[in-house]
Amino acid sequence: MNLPKRMLVANVAWAQEIARRDPQFFSTLATGQKPQVLWIGCSDSRVPAESVTHCAPGDLFVHRNIANLFHPDDDNNMSVLEYALRVLRVAHIIVCGHYGCGGVRASLLPPADALPHVNRRIEPLCALAQTHRSTLARLPSEEARINRLAELNVIEQVRLLREHPLVREGEPAPLVHGWIFSLNDGQLRELASGYDVESAKATAAACANPLRIAQPTHA
Ligand SMILES: [Zn+2]
Repeated sequence: MNLPKRMLVANVAWAQEIARRDPQFFSTLATGQKPQVLWIGCSDSRVPAESVTHCAPGDLFVHRNIANLFHPDDDNNMSVLEYALRVLRVAHIIVCGHYGCGGVRASLLPPADALPHVNRRIEPLCALAQTHRSTLARLPSEEARINRLAELNVIEQVRLLREHPLVREGEPAPLVHGWIFSLNDGQLRELASGYDVESAKATAAACANPLRIAQPTHA
């Protein structure tokens, strides 16, 4: 059986299992969505939003792209944000990056000739890497530089979102959080809490000190 066929068969089993556990699940799902969270994550196949948070269909409004970037001038990004805030009225926006991110790694390397769209997309990330080049240069390995830049990238996207008029003037204004996922243990770590708007600045400052960034913060 080919892979797409296997996926379709698996879907039938999944739907039957859900319906067996909750006979009203799909009839409720069909009445409409009311997610409380907009998730902006990386396209990486290893960081599926619903799976890593034990969320169900209907819980998350999801936007994923390479390196979980927010581009205020991109209609794809902006249409998702606009719909999430003005129609769904989500209470939370979660930016979720991950360690070992290929998009972040690419921003630290020369542009790849075969990837012009990726190159253009990650230009702001390259600029962020330049801004923090002295901090990154002090780290002992490429892996450490990628992981630190992945953290800084989450903080930067949180900052951009918090400053955007759609978010600032939202009614109610959503809380913007920054998380990072570890592929090594499957755990999420909070870098910035929407309940504490100073936390992003504190985390950014802590990025200069590897010992401090190791301490997780919780709302
Ligand atoms: Zn990634």
